[in-house]
Amino acid sequence: MAESRGRLTVLAGPTAVGKGTVAGYVREHHPEVWISVSATTRRPRPGEVHGRHYWFVTDGEFDRLVAQDELLEWAVVHGTARYGTPRLPVTEALAAGRPALLEIDLQGARQVRRRMPEALFVFLKPPSWNELVRRLVGRGTESPEERARRLETAHAELAAETEFDVTVVNTEVHLAAEELVALMESP
Ligand code: 5GP
Repeated sequence: MAESRGRLTVLAGPTAVGKGTVAGYVREHHPEVWISVSATTRRPRPGEVHGRHYWFVTDGEFDRLVAQDELLEWAVVHGTARYGTPRLPVTEALAAGRPALLEIDLQGARQVRRRMPEALFVFLKPPSWNELVRRLVGRGTESPEERARRLETAHAELAAETEFDVTVVNTEVHLAAEELVALMESP
């Protein structure tokens, strides 16, 4: 009998394009999709829940995860905090036959491609550069310096679209999310 294994999909794209919002929509409307919870050294924002949005860990705990090779990938994002994907839950979800989703940055996506080239790599793109700037400013959670740093990162990240298997344009969250799920579940 053929082994039943889920498919791994990596969703990446420039900062503030709405990856987290799209993933949130999928979490709410598609319980069949397993979504990875990353570990991060950044502090929680108001309303973020440990174990649901992220595993909020100390620098020491993150060091241990890296040293024991417990992360599938990890990166310093925006030059500030470390973010990484715990490996074991991904392996277990795939072994259980569930479609699995990682919502990570570009550096992380490149690492996953080296380790699991059979995964599906989806690039989430804003309708335009102006719209991306508007979304980043509109979120209002970052300082002006942090915002400038994130825009610089976003500019470089937009150029990476060609490295991906498929592009989804995030014009409306529910449409982008449904397109993503359709891609994940297509044979
Ligand atoms: P935020 O701090 O706004 O939640 O996320 C910042 C960035 O970190 C986003 O671009 C997000 O995709 C990325 N990110 C979240 N989790 C991971 C992870 O596990 N690995 C990597 N490489 N990036 C991540």
